[in-house]
This record gives sequence, C-alpha cells and structure tokens, in this order.
Amino acid sequence: MKLSHEPSVADSFSTFVEEEERRRVLRDGSRVAVVGSGPAGSFFSYFLLKMAEAIDLDLEVDIFEPRSFRYCGPAGCNHCGGIVSESLVQILSAEGIVLPDTVVQRGVESYVVHMDVGDVEIESPVQEQRIAALYRGNGPREGGDAPLESFDNYLLEMAVDRGASVVRQLITGTAWNDGLPVLQYADGTAASYDLVAVATGVNSNFLSLLEPLSFDFDPPKTTRGYICEFRSTEEEIRRILGSSVHVFLLSIPRFEFAAIIPKGQFATVVMVGEDLDQELVHAFLNDPVVRRTFPTDVVPCVCSCSPRINLGAASRPYGDRVVLVGDSGVTRLYKDGIGAAFRTGKAAATTAVFHGVAKDDFEKHFWPACKSIANDNAVGKIMFATNAVMKNSRLTRRAMLRMAQREQERANARPHMSSLLWNMFTGSAPYTEMFKGTFHPGFIYHLARNVFASLWPRRSKPGIPEGVA
Ligand SMILES: Cc1cc2nc3c(=O)[nH]c(=O)nc-3n(C[C@H](O)[C@H](O)[C@H](O)COP(=O)(O)OP(=O)(O)OC[C@H]3O[C@@H](n4cnc5c(N)ncnc54)[C@H](O)[C@@H]3O)c2cc1C
Repeated sequence: MKLSHEPSVADSFSTFVEEEERRRVLRDGSRVAVVGSGPAGSFFSYFLLKMAEAIDLDLEVDIFEPRSFRYCGPAGCNHCGGIVSESLVQILSAEGIVLPDTVVQRGVESYVVHMDVGDVEIESPVQEQRIAALYRGNGPREGGDAPLESFDNYLLEMAVDRGASVVRQLITGTAWNDGLPVLQYADGTAASYDLVAVATGVNSNFLSLLEPLSFDFDPPKTTRGYICEFRSTEEEIRRILGSSVHVFLLSIPRFEFAAIIPKGQFATVVMVGEDLDQELVHAFLNDPVVRRTFPTDVVPCVCSCSPRINLGAASRPYGDRVVLVGDSGVTRLYKDGIGAAFRTGKAAATTAVFHGVAKDDFEKHFWPACKSIANDNAVGKIMFATNAVMKNSRLTRRAMLRMAQREQERANARPHMSSLLWNMFTGSAPYTEMFKGTFHPGFIYHLARNVFASLWPRRSKPGIPEGVA
C-alpha cells in the first residue's frame, strides 16, 4: 500500500532537478564572463575552455577588454618589467605553450649583480631553458617600427583559438539578479553570467565596483613601481648590456630593488619597493654604480610609467559565481606576477569545470593555491628585510660579492649565494625554498668565511671598485 506522504517519482525528480539547479555548476551553454585579458584573464579562459572540451562541456566565454595590445605605448601596455622566469618558461612549454621568438625580445643568459664594492655575473643554473624578456603590449611609445609582438596579445589569441570571444568593452558596474552576477557595460547595457572571473589587476578601479556581488572581500594592498624605456640601437644596447639582466644592491635609503633589462633596441629600467617616489628614482638613475652600468644621462627615455603593484593578498578572492585571479586576487611579492597569474588562473578554471562555481567550491579547490602563494610571500617579506639589512652594510655587501664571485669562478663549487641571488632576482623559486637554503650548513659556513675575509679586502686601484676584475 502506498503511504499518502511518500513523494511520487515525479515529485522526487523535480526535487532532484531543483537541487541540481541550486548546485552551482557549469553546464552546456553556461555563460562565463572574464573581466580583463592580462595574463590572468587569458590563462583562465584558455584553461577553462581546454578542460571543458576534455569533458565535452560546451561553454560560452566572453572576455571583456577595452585595450588593444597591438598598440605601442601606454594604450596597449599592461606595465611590467616583462621578465618570465625560466621555471615558468618550462611550465608553459610542458603545457604546450611555447613562446615564439617574435614575443621573446631577448633570451636572458645571466644576471649581473652590481654593488658599489664590485660586480658579479651569475649564469643561469638551468641551461636548457632561458629566462624570457618580453613586452606586454606592442612595445614602448615610439616603438612602432620595432619588430615586437605583444605577450598579452599572444595569450589572448590562445584563448580565442580555444573559442573565447573578445568584447571590446569596459565593465563599469556589477549587480546581482535572480541568483546570478550581472555586468554593466560602458554603453549602458548589462548581461548576467553563470560565472564572472575578475582579472582586472590593480591598475583600474574595478575592484571597488564589486560590492553589489556581496561577498566578503577586501582588495589587495598596493604600492607604485616605476618603469622607464630607454631607446638606442640594438647593437648599442647589446654592447652595453649584453644578454644579461642587470640588478643592483645599493645602499640608497629606501631603495629595495631595480633592474635594467635589454630588449632589442630598448632597455627597460624597473624599480619596485614599498616606498618608491620621484626622489628615489632620481637617486637611483644618478647613482655612480648605475651610471657606470648604463648611461641613463645619454640614452633617451622614451616611455615611463608608475603602475600599481600588488603587495598583499586580497582576503578570500571568491564568492558564489565570482572568482578573482591574478593581481586582483593573490600574486607573488615583487616577482613572477605572470607566474602567479598562470597558477591562480589555472586553479580557478579547474575548480569551475570539475567542482563547481559556488563559494564553497572555490574555498575548497581554489583557495589552497592562493594560500600557498600568500604564505610564501610572508617568508618573502623576511627575505627582503634580511636583504635590506645585508645590502646596507659594506662588510656584508663585500662578503656576498666575494662568495658569489668565488662560486662562479669554480666550476664544481656549490652555488649557495649565487642560487640565492638568482632566485631572489628572477623569482624562479618560492621564497620558502630560498629561506631554507640559507640554513644549509654550507651556506652558513661559506658566508661566515667570506664575512671574515671581507674584513681585510684586497686593495683596489684608484677609481676601480674593489670587486671589479
Ligand atoms: C613595475 C612593475 C614591474 C613588474 N615586472 C614584472 C616582471 O618582470 N615579471 C612578472 O612576471 N611580473 C611583473 N610585474 C607584475 C605583473 O605586471 C602582474 O603580476 C601581471 O600583470 C598581473 O596580470 P593580471 O592579468 O592579473 O593583471 P593585468 O596585467 O594588470 O591585466 C588587467 C587587465 O584588465 C583590464 N581591465 C581593467 N579594468 C577593466 C574593466 N573595468 N573592464 C574590462 N577590462 C578591464 C586591463 O585593461 C588589463 O588588460 C611587475 C609589476 C610592476 C608594477
């Protein structure tokens, strides 16, 4: 006998359908909006569509990007030093993403560390893959005749090849309607989506427009960096800088990090630090160590900017049907922002395709990737603070230089200091790994030995720094 309160098959089926509807997952025909097509937006779109295809899931992906990366100068540029670490070059090629020569402006063979006490050239420890120096847009202002191809455009084309559509619209607002996020366009129209991936970085006001999507979110802390493009001939840039990135450990007050990167007929000067201003930029460009490395007073600067840089993770960069990737969520401290865009973009895409687009899904499957970057940054802060102390003492500068020089001279020497400096400057390894390396007995022994030896430096000829051969 059938009990009267027992649900019928039809009731059970409709309850099942309702529950499935409530479960926030992407289905055939689901619409995904990606706001911003820097590396994070393009990596996210590329992996989302690649994984969806693998499980026969048919998604509609709209990438909103008002900027064309085919323009040179600020109009087409996402403001960055343009260094892609060798570990990321390797990871990308394992994913089948091989950067073409037209995008890689220069394969970097070594880093030269410059200090007032001397210089040391550190060769890439991974010979088979070189660091790539590239342009995010179509090169600097006045770069129109240079043979440049934009990295960001290359990634965007990859996403388009997978089936994404590019919408040349600025997103000017958000709303929440009938359980779905809504995007408002600059032309006054609006549309709802099953998932919105925010990849707007930290150089627009978009993160302040997310409030209507009602998730618990504090934007990341930011500061300003500095970039200047110097233009000469390709031969001249090669003669002055070779195929090396030049980095500086200087005791200028408030100075943290700067690099000069050769890129064809341009040299990119990049500075980052928590307390960067015009005065510090001026002090750096006019420092005698910088002037003997690159004639910043003679070669003209044709393009410069002060973009914002992410200094700390956004709190929980996700909610129901919303996820923040790249700089707008969590990135690596001062280094390898493109690598972090890759990792967070891929983790968000994996979550959306295989687990769902609810807050809990992102919490369980996306947040661990962000948290590991944020935890590593905490160690990075200790590393930068230690570096600041060491570079401010002439004795420790001498010891670091001496130790790295000896490691580079001896083929079989274990490169304790060289690896540390290489990884600090390139961002090739996590900060935690570098930190652990400083506790290695060999590192401590050799550093102590070199500090002791540096108490009595070799006398140098007048006008020539001690460590310059
Ligand atoms: C001085 C400096 C030097 C750096 N050097 C390096 C380096 O050498 N190597 C490295 O790996 N990283 C470097 N970085 C970090 C790197 O630039 C970032 O980590 C990286 O660009 C983050 O990518 P993203 O896609 O998250 O954001 P972005 O690259 O900032 O892209 C955001 C995109 O969103 C679009 N957008 C913004 N608002 C809207 C809107 N409302 N509607 C639609 N679209 C919108 C923008 O037009 C842009 O294209 C550097 C950063 C600075 C500041």
